[in-house]
Amino acid sequence: NRSIVVIGSGIAGLATAIRLQQAGNLVHVYEANDYYGGKISEFIMGDFRFDAGPSLFTMPQFIEELFDLCEVPMEQYFAYEKKEIICKYYYEDGTRFTAYADKENYIKKAALTFNEEENSIRAYLASSKKKYDVTKNLFLNKSLHKAKTYLSLDTLKGIVAMPTLGIHRNLNQENEKFFKNPLLVQLFNRYATYNGSSPFLTPGIMSLIPHLENHYGTFVPKGGMISITNSLVSLAEKLGVQLHLNSKVNRILIDDSNKAEGVIVENKKIFSDIVVSNMDVVPTYRKLLKGYPAPEKVLRQERSSSALIFYWGINRNFEELDLHNIFFANNYDREFKNIFDKQTIGDDVTVYLNITAKDIPEDAPSGCENWFVMVNAPGNMDQDWDEIIKRTRANIIKKLSNQLGEEIGPLIVSESILDPRSIESRTQSYQGSLYGAASNNQFAAFLRHPNFSSRFENLYFCGGSVHPGGGIPLCLLSAKITSELILYDK
Ligand code: FAD
Repeated sequence: NRSIVVIGSGIAGLATAIRLQQAGNLVHVYEANDYYGGKISEFIMGDFRFDAGPSLFTMPQFIEELFDLCEVPMEQYFAYEKKEIICKYYYEDGTRFTAYADKENYIKKAALTFNEEENSIRAYLASSKKKYDVTKNLFLNKSLHKAKTYLSLDTLKGIVAMPTLGIHRNLNQENEKFFKNPLLVQLFNRYATYNGSSPFLTPGIMSLIPHLENHYGTFVPKGGMISITNSLVSLAEKLGVQLHLNSKVNRILIDDSNKAEGVIVENKKIFSDIVVSNMDVVPTYRKLLKGYPAPEKVLRQERSSSALIFYWGINRNFEELDLHNIFFANNYDREFKNIFDKQTIGDDVTVYLNITAKDIPEDAPSGCENWFVMVNAPGNMDQDWDEIIKRTRANIIKKLSNQLGEEIGPLIVSESILDPRSIESRTQSYQGSLYGAASNNQFAAFLRHPNFSSRFENLYFCGGSVHPGGGIPLCLLSAKITSELILYDK
């Protein structure tokens, strides 16, 4: 029965609080904003509702696991549906591809569209599954930084299989091993962006990601992505977690024997047995632990990409579009070089268009659609964002107008914009990165910050900037790993 402070109410902070409170501890969550959920938030613009951050929901079993753990029926708080269509793809040469969740349908349609052998696609998906199965116990389910992880048989199997998993090739090279058609290679290269990396740099092992979509499926939460945050807040409150909004933590208190002993919130000292930071690990060290030595090598790692998002109210329906739509750039290699080498957004961009009103009609007035239009962006390094935004907006409108055969500009009735600067200032995510450190080299997984501090006892970390990485499923796994370290490691 210990007192625990969690800094931040991002998904990992909420899930950690739930797990620790459920185990009999007294948990307080301090959130700087006047809303919960960090990146998973929403806003209303006139008659349109928008999820502000994540739009793709996979691995719902990790949410279900939290409700099961607390013996609370999930249906009372959270419901979701499986999507029949994973994504619609548009290429500049006119090629169109609808990715169906049904695997056989997917394989047959992909083989026809891209003129590939069905068996090549089958072999690719089988190899994706193998990579996931072999590595999940090493990279995802446990701390990478505790000796006992390496003593388990599953982990050893993972290490032995490593050379066969494409770790020495980049994702693009791995995909080219399977497919002749560069358009299909590009489709599978896209999965590098699921952790904010470049397919031309991230290791081939990342080809495990399509397995998560093609095998487990993609889902749409009823009420939008925000219902993930809302349901976890309700579950936390039901268990008795004390949640505090507008409560920015300014400092982590360290005692003379290098133990975390609490936090300072708005000039008030709050003592606790354990402190868990769900704040990005870089500002945690730079701001809350200023003056203490920091793990510089880990903090200096390259960051994952950020995003530039236009939220548009559109006064027309586009029957051909679905919830997730991708309009590919012509030159993918150059798009990523612009992001990671030149820290800019080029003119030839891949546009991701998400329309929740396709599945949740209340999100837009009848005859209208709520467009969440996103391009990958470099982190915030004080670029001339106003110039980049103006230029990119014009490029996106031109591209979508060409692809959809209708001038988009005049259909935009309302607009809001999120860029790497605002992502950084709203969530404290260093440089506005979406997924913490990038996975642009084969050692990235090992260089991510652990879920505990090796210098300060009783200080732990969860969330997208620490092991095992960013994105909703991994953040939920980080909450599990961190809670288990706190509960069972002593
Ligand atoms: P965060 O969401 O980063 O929240 C941290 C919280 O801590 C914030 O609420 C912040 O205010 C608070 N905080 C920080 N410092 C302090 C302090 N000093 N005191 C008090 N509170 C503090 N993932 C997917 O799975 N699918 C997607 O489709 C997807 N798309 C994305 C699109 C966008 C535009 C963005 C921004 C992210 C996307 N992601 C996606 C990534 C996903 O949103 C994140 O990995 C995840 O939500 C991060 O959760 P977190 O627990 O690390 O905390």
